[in-house]
Amino acid sequence: MFAGHYAAALAAKAAEPRAPMWTLVAGAQLVDIGWSALIIGGVERGSSDPSLPGSPLVLEHMPWTHSLPAALAWSVIAGLLAKALLRLPMRVAVVIGLVVFSHWLADLLVHRPDLLLYPDGPKVGLSLWNLPVVEQAVEIGLLGVAGMFWAAQRIRAGLNAWPAAAFLSLLVAVQIIAALMPAEVSDNLHSFGPNALAIYLVLTVVAVFLDGSRASTPQATA
Ligand SMILES: [Zn+2]
Repeated sequence: MFAGHYAAALAAKAAEPRAPMWTLVAGAQLVDIGWSALIIGGVERGSSDPSLPGSPLVLEHMPWTHSLPAALAWSVIAGLLAKALLRLPMRVAVVIGLVVFSHWLADLLVHRPDLLLYPDGPKVGLSLWNLPVVEQAVEIGLLGVAGMFWAAQRIRAGLNAWPAAAFLSLLVAVQIIAALMPAEVSDNLHSFGPNALAIYLVLTVVAVFLDGSRASTPQATA
């Protein structure tokens, strides 16, 4: 799952427009932002095997980001930080925490069994990556549905829908480009980590501009 994770951010924005868009966009990939950094640092490990269907990733060791306890911890800490540092209402902080946790649930759907349930426990994953066409359709379908919810919310609030349409288009383009890129063969993911991190950070910065001060206060346009 790549851009499909952002469906949770779009849906959350529709449900809780007070949440700053960048917190939802960063939150949807927070676990992977941590993973990219730990892969670069050699703390978590993986490799790539282009002969695999769907995704070449072979994720051998990622207990600090993609185990169930770790994902829960990242979600709770993200919600608490959002509340403490950004002084957001409790409901908004809870929504941000849920978006962070959505990452693990979406990964559960697509990953081959590499998600640790608990320390020394079984690894789980429903392996939708093994059906690449279905997996791509699910990711883009989720993005489309969530994007429409967000666009509808903006229209109801008296705002124009173009930021939703533009960001949705960007995410679908990123997803298609990523799917068409040839898989690299490597024993480690040291070059994958920085590339992934750069994409996550660029999309987070783009999200800042989706959220002008008027965008999150619908009454300002009334
Ligand atoms: Zn992930």
